[in-house]
Amino acid sequence: MDKVRVRFAPSPTGPLHMGGVRTALYNYLFAKKHGGDFILRIEDTDQNRYVPGAEQYIVESLDWCKIIVDEGIGKAGDLGPYRQSDRKHMYKEYSDLLLESGNAYIAFDTTEELDQMRERMKNAGVPSPQYNAITRTSMQNSLSLSEDEVQARLDKNEPYVVRVKMPRNEEVKFKDIIRGWVVVNTNNLDDKVIFKSDGMPTYHLANVVDDYLMKISHVIRGEEWLPSAPLHILLYRFFDWKAPEFAHLPLILKPDGNGKLSKRDGDRLGFPVFPIEWKNPETGDVSKGYREEGYFKEAFTNMLAFLGWNPGTTQEIFSMDELIESFSLERVGKAGAKFDFDKTKWFNQQYLRAKDGQELSDLVSPLFQEKVSDADLAVICELMKERATFAKDIFNESTFFFEAPLEYDEKTLRKKWKESTPDILNQLIEILDSISSFDPLTIETTFKSFLEEKELGFGAVLPNFRLAITGLGMGPSMFHICSILGKEEVIKRLRLAIERNA
Ligand code: GLU
Repeated sequence: MDKVRVRFAPSPTGPLHMGGVRTALYNYLFAKKHGGDFILRIEDTDQNRYVPGAEQYIVESLDWCKIIVDEGIGKAGDLGPYRQSDRKHMYKEYSDLLLESGNAYIAFDTTEELDQMRERMKNAGVPSPQYNAITRTSMQNSLSLSEDEVQARLDKNEPYVVRVKMPRNEEVKFKDIIRGWVVVNTNNLDDKVIFKSDGMPTYHLANVVDDYLMKISHVIRGEEWLPSAPLHILLYRFFDWKAPEFAHLPLILKPDGNGKLSKRDGDRLGFPVFPIEWKNPETGDVSKGYREEGYFKEAFTNMLAFLGWNPGTTQEIFSMDELIESFSLERVGKAGAKFDFDKTKWFNQQYLRAKDGQELSDLVSPLFQEKVSDADLAVICELMKERATFAKDIFNESTFFFEAPLEYDEKTLRKKWKESTPDILNQLIEILDSISSFDPLTIETTFKSFLEEKELGFGAVLPNFRLAITGLGMGPSMFHICSILGKEEVIKRLRLAIERNA
């Protein structure tokens, strides 16, 4: 097998949708699995759709996701440049080759002439008219006009495009790694423009020429490009080049499975569809990004990997190395993959829980602003991580570690706080006060023997104890919480609660 070389070839027309990131990820995983290269090529032949900042955004997104580029924008390689606008001078030669071999022709039609043709065809009962073997005969092109006429128009500098001459009634056949055999009859394809009057190639020509010149072995891209694949296969044939292998990835669908996931779904249902935040340079509108929302990059890429691929086992948590090891295009499904936001949060939770107290405290310490000691913060993180989805939740749920509660959970108060509660808590204060080493284990043993001695159940004391100390009805181990707060603070809060709720 030739060396595996794959490319991610986005157009800089705006922020990169997470579907695009998944395409990049699958390309990267495939390349790394086979010891190959991952190339980033920017396809900016359509200058009308160019959005400033989009290219930088793409680079930064891949960087955040740890999808490492071997060659491309920002990473020099032997087969560059890697931005199509910088390769502009290379394409005409290939368009000329197709003209010479008779697989392409020159067309002078103006926009009005094209519109008239469509109108004519519609009136004749053709629902979606195309520039093809039938219509081309009545249009202004080098197949229908005399050689002299063509030359005269060229001499007058009349603008023209180059169109591919789609063969009549031929079957184009190729094997897609994900979809199996794809067969299309050329009668269903049109004479696509491959070179424009502005001197730029269109996507089709530039894409095929660049894949060839960059020695791309596998084209792994979204399903939306499947209809273009037969034309690409034909172009390879016309040039007499070996075509790369193709794999068209399934769409990422809306959570209800009804259609492609769009930015609007994210806005409507409250989740980001972009890897990192994007500020629209024209309107100033900001679109949310997973990075800024507090997702771990590992969780994001792990989640993305599962949108279309599965390892065939029950394992769900995969590091990038494990993904590389397990990934195969054969295990990518044909059917669209439904996006599941709850599952996305679940992945983040799993990564959060897998981090130890020290790692987490490094992440959240800027939020805590020295409200607690470093040692305490590590313990707090350990205690709180089970209930958190994001690192920032640890801080948001931890106020009671540095502030006495201002109010008490209404429901617990109503259900648990009895007439006898102040008395019980007063006795608890006495017992706690007698402890000399205020560590979790001693507090726990003391508390339990207090319950035993007084013949009280956990349910009669613990919820009120928690309420007094944290103001909440639920939370992590009270004994650890008390140990962090210290004896004095615990007793102070118990007294305060008794006073307030008496
Ligand atoms: N420039 C195309 C895009 O924006 C690339 C399609 C392909 O990978 O061939 O998705």
